[in-house]
Amino acid sequence: MVLALVLCNHATPVNSLATPNGDGLKKVYTMSTSSKATTATKSLVVHWFRLGDMRLHDNPALQKSILLAGNQGIIPVFCFDPRIFGNQAQSRLGQELKCGPKRAQFVLESVADLRANLERKGSGLLVAHAKPEDFLGDLFEKVGEPALTNGKVICQEEVCSEEQAVVRAVQNALSSRCGNGKRPKATLLQTVWGSTLYDLEDLPYMAGLTDMPDTFTPFRNKVEKKCEVKSPVAAPNSLKLPKELLPSTLQSHLTYMPTLLDLGYTSEQVEESKQKSIGNLEFVGGETAGLNRMKDYIFTQDRLKVYFDTRNGMLGDDYSSKFAPWLAHGNLSPRLIAQECKRYEEERVANKSTYWLIFELLWRDFFKFFALKQGTAIFFPGGTVGSDKQWKHYEKNVHAWKQGKTGFPLVDANMRELAASGFMSNRGRQNVCSFLALELNQDWRYGAEYFENILLDFDVYSNWGNWCSGAGMTGGRLNRFNIVKQSKDYDQHGDYVRHWLPELKNVPKEFVHEPWKMTQFQQMEYGCRLGVDYPIPIAKPYYPGGGGKGGGEKNGKGQPHKGGRNNNRNKPNPNRGRGQRQDMKSLKEGTFHLT
Ligand SMILES: Cc1cc2nc3c(=O)[nH]c(=O)nc-3n(C[C@H](O)[C@H](O)[C@H](O)COP(=O)(O)OP(=O)(O)OC[C@H]3O[C@@H](n4cnc5c(N)ncnc54)[C@H](O)[C@@H]3O)c2cc1C
Repeated sequence: MVLALVLCNHATPVNSLATPNGDGLKKVYTMSTSSKATTATKSLVVHWFRLGDMRLHDNPALQKSILLAGNQGIIPVFCFDPRIFGNQAQSRLGQELKCGPKRAQFVLESVADLRANLERKGSGLLVAHAKPEDFLGDLFEKVGEPALTNGKVICQEEVCSEEQAVVRAVQNALSSRCGNGKRPKATLLQTVWGSTLYDLEDLPYMAGLTDMPDTFTPFRNKVEKKCEVKSPVAAPNSLKLPKELLPSTLQSHLTYMPTLLDLGYTSEQVEESKQKSIGNLEFVGGETAGLNRMKDYIFTQDRLKVYFDTRNGMLGDDYSSKFAPWLAHGNLSPRLIAQECKRYEEERVANKSTYWLIFELLWRDFFKFFALKQGTAIFFPGGTVGSDKQWKHYEKNVHAWKQGKTGFPLVDANMRELAASGFMSNRGRQNVCSFLALELNQDWRYGAEYFENILLDFDVYSNWGNWCSGAGMTGGRLNRFNIVKQSKDYDQHGDYVRHWLPELKNVPKEFVHEPWKMTQFQQMEYGCRLGVDYPIPIAKPYYPGGGGKGGGEKNGKGQPHKGGRNNNRNKPNPNRGRGQRQDMKSLKEGTFHLT
């Protein structure tokens, strides 16, 4: 509604927005053409792209910038913040890199693609290697008028502490350049909600989400029942860059693009950054590659119709969507994915799988909203429940975990895949998280920080939310995974572990997930001597009595239990407790509505 009113002021907007299939914004656009009002530029708008909104399609913050700028056009900016990139930017606890070289390369690719797409529309992108508050403050000063009197910065809203601190720093910097206090901070920088399937303002909860449930299933049930996913807005047709306002010192930023070396990585890390693929799928950053992957997975490969059955896989390109790296950087909009799923349902088939991808995207929403509700508690050792559990920190064990040398093949294969590619399946992530936090009892934050460093799809909400919850620090049922059972259920023949652990290549199926069960003679025979070729387990293997929680289904994610070590798939599991029954309920298909 607000957008519609703003657009009414611009009969022939230079930054015009279009929609591919005639929905969503078209309604707004129609209103604008019937308006009698003429164009009147209100403010000079700098659109500050952040790490989570690097795209032109369905970008609510960008849309707002365009509408506010009217005929004047927007100034798009991206800053490589030295607090995030390079070897100097480290986490406080484990001194992990805030952003490893693979993800930094993905970001460089995303920014390059964003610039190319903006240029195609008639605009450009100012790129800087600087703190946003420094660069944006300088920009206002160098532009002078009209920035100082009516300039404003628009960006996507993020809800975690570091991201919010940067926003405050930008507001302060702008305020001091614009006559310290002469302009209220809210007129200098505005944030716009984005990146989720459901809009914050549409959620059926109170302001601050104080009454939002802390567990997924009740959240999902209410949101699916009461809310609609808004149609995505198409990329703008054309854009204008007010180049004449930019002095030459700023114009050079229109072509500047740092290298990984410039960002503070070493030449070895530059080499390392080149390996970010699994199978045939290369993770290339940017909206263009993200849209291609979406089209390829859903329509060309026609994988959506089997997603529910394949999503717990670990080996290969297409067992799951692999949308996460593009979603995390805002290269892909979840609402566009939802729209494409609906189109697929109309054109091909609608089944549990076509719904389930949206179900997974709702998990992603859940963690952003959960972070908004809980604030910094998702980063505390005792999590959002304020537990006083005393976590251990034994560096040797954490190191073995990171290196993929724990002696537990499933954990090791997953950790080596992560280090080699920057990616790990959801099944793998749940297992390695449970192993570190609940098996080794190591402070889970070391794991979360390591993931933050290495994952291509690192997203502060999904990563810290999943870790906090996996460590049992968000309340609800604790899921301690039975690693051996999980290995046998999800890697029946050992193909996955053999793929990543060459030491096990000749070890037969019966031992491949439990190499510690081999006799010395068998170890010699299969070329896998424990303690020499492959590690002795660093912890006692966990074999809970009966089926128990070992199957480790987390809040309804994953396949139903398959009968423990006996692998007796036909008999009901007598140990299925209340928690498990609840989880089975959450495997029930729901629904989603698109406006
Ligand atoms: C310890 C741990 C850490 C994680 N860290 C991250 C992270 O930093 N970034 C991230 O995007 N996901 C994270 N996940 C969630 C999930 O593992 C990945 O999103 C998923 O494996 C990515 O593969 P995909 O795109 O093929 O997923 P698909 O199975 O195809 O799912 C589609 C999309 O749904 C979303 N999604 C699915 N499961 C989850 C989930 N549990 N939580 C949040 N979103 C989900 C993702 O955006 C994903 O791309 C983490 C999970 C765990 C257990």
